Amino acid sequence: MKTAMGNKVALIAMGCEKNVINSEQMLYLLDKAGYQLVDDPNRADVTVVNTCGFIAEARQEALEQIREIGGSKVILAGCMAEWQKSVPGRKKGIRADGYVGPGRFDDIVPAVEAVLGGRVPVFFGGLDEPVSAVPRIHMGPPHTAYIKIAEGCDNRCAYCLIPTLRGPYRSRKPEDVLAEAETLCRSGVTELVVIAQDVTRYGFDLPGGKPNLSGLLEKLCGIGGLRRIRLHYLYPELITDELIATVAGQEKIVKYLDIPMQHASDPVLKAMNRRYTRADLERLVVTLRERIPGVILRTTVIVGFPGETEDDFIELTDFLRFAKIPRVGVFAYSRETGTVAAGLPGQVPSKMRKRRQRVAEKLQSRITDAFNQSRVGSVAEVLCEGYDRYAGLYYGRSEAESPEVDGCVFFTSERKVSPGEYLPVLLEGALDGDGKGRAL
Ligand code: SF4
Repeated sequence: MKTAMGNKVALIAMGCEKNVINSEQMLYLLDKAGYQLVDDPNRADVTVVNTCGFIAEARQEALEQIREIGGSKVILAGCMAEWQKSVPGRKKGIRADGYVGPGRFDDIVPAVEAVLGGRVPVFFGGLDEPVSAVPRIHMGPPHTAYIKIAEGCDNRCAYCLIPTLRGPYRSRKPEDVLAEAETLCRSGVTELVVIAQDVTRYGFDLPGGKPNLSGLLEKLCGIGGLRRIRLHYLYPELITDELIATVAGQEKIVKYLDIPMQHASDPVLKAMNRRYTRADLERLVVTLRERIPGVILRTTVIVGFPGETEDDFIELTDFLRFAKIPRVGVFAYSRETGTVAAGLPGQVPSKMRKRRQRVAEKLQSRITDAFNQSRVGSVAEVLCEGYDRYAGLYYGRSEAESPEVDGCVFFTSERKVSPGEYLPVLLEGALDGDGKGRAL
């Protein structure tokens, strides 16, 4: 059998940022074990496909991705693998040469060895183990990185498979998070996006036994080279006065908060097992805008949840008009075997779900355009991400654009600007959700 040195391994990273970090950790382990990492699966002896599995669409994508792989052996890793193993009554899964669940990704090297040895590794479990501190090979842009502060989730929203696929909530030790952030910073990262399934719950399972995201953020703000710290996935109910004060008081923390709200009709929120009401959301939005001047909010909403009536939907659109949240992702409910919601009465027909999604998106695009227009004439600090040769413009992100989920700012400059540079840009217009301006 050829040693690791002689073997080529490819890894296809799919799914959310939390899963991409696992992919980066697997790359680190494979590289350390001496495998030759290749980009093209057709040149590899083994291809690891680190999949997403929480909705049917993502699983279909994984299936299509694996079908494209030619001669290489395939290890099915990540949430699709766990879905196949753990979700009762699910549809037919994918056949692979090996299976590695999200709780065992740090056994990727023995898994590859087993496949090369003609065996079929089936590595699952580990979903309630402490979160792995294996280092990672950062694959993203050199100046921006995500950092995962916890794994799993206990919120048990009725439509969500993540607690089944990623296990119970486990906070990472603060010293592990800080060490990783310092390493990323030394490698040139200046913008850190703090993520978990629910960042607001961070620390409740650590000594001291209470949520302590503020404490962790204060420490992260102490890292010299960091300029921006972003927060994604805040659970509305757990946004405390202390956290608001930390965000308002720390210059490095970007005044941009991603708070998935999912709906605004109380009966629907209750059926989703979300622990707040419309009145709570309205109070939260008002309080955040009062206590963090200029704060930019992002949220996601689900339309077409079982039992959602036309009145419920109107309540949601009323709330969107009230809250004027500039960054909103609208999703049509996806019925997932293995979730509580899949068994609920009043499943909304697909056509209706799609119609409601279109209506909400149309309303939201007017709110987003109004927000982008309101910034015209102001100066924003933009992190340059590159130059678009076709548009003949530089592009980047101000505080109002988070990576991958929001648009960007296109700008002209009399001097050459490098990716990773921060510079003041006068915003002069907005186009299709993107800002336009000129460097000062
Ligand atoms: S908060 Fe709810 S939707 Fe988000 S991962 Fe947890 S269970 Fe899923």
